[in-house]
Amino acid sequence: MKKEDCIFCKLANGDIPTATIFEDDDFRVFLDAGPASRGHALIVPKEHYANLYELPDELAMKAFLLAKKLITKLTPVFKADGYNVIQNNGSAAGQTVFHFHMHLIPRYVGDDAGFGWKEHELDDGTRDEILELVKGIYL
Ligand code: AMP
Ligand code: ZN
Repeated sequence: MKKEDCIFCKLANGDIPTATIFEDDDFRVFLDAGPASRGHALIVPKEHYANLYELPDELAMKAFLLAKKLITKLTPVFKADGYNVIQNNGSAAGQTVFHFHMHLIPRYVGDDAGFGWKEHELDDGTRDEILELVKGIYL
């Protein structure tokens, strides 16, 4: 299903032009309009799913396999030194477009694509509390 007011539905389905680097029946991969680095691209399904929670298992598998194939091919093409594969779910996690997508961000030694997190200490109490919380969860 497409969502009427969703920009990524329009981009993924070719209703609005994109700088497309790959397309198949399920996905379009196009350059991010605000790239973190040279070659930053987005894997976007043609059907609308807001995030990874909503994405059907089959598409989730295909998306990750496609990410693997693309970064394998593109690393030498861009002469990249590494790659970040990033996927945000929810505004608290940095998601700004609420149509599932995966970021493929080539990394170059010395680039300024700075993202990461501040490390905190995992204290024993927190560790035990978390292990207790997730005990027995069916995966
Ligand atoms: P996120 O913050 O994970 O939701 O990422 C959204 C990404 O979409 C950002 O990196 C934006 O630069 C990118 N973006 C937003 N609008 C467009 C557009 N029209 N074409 C290409 N990329 C876009
Ligand atoms: Zn959409």
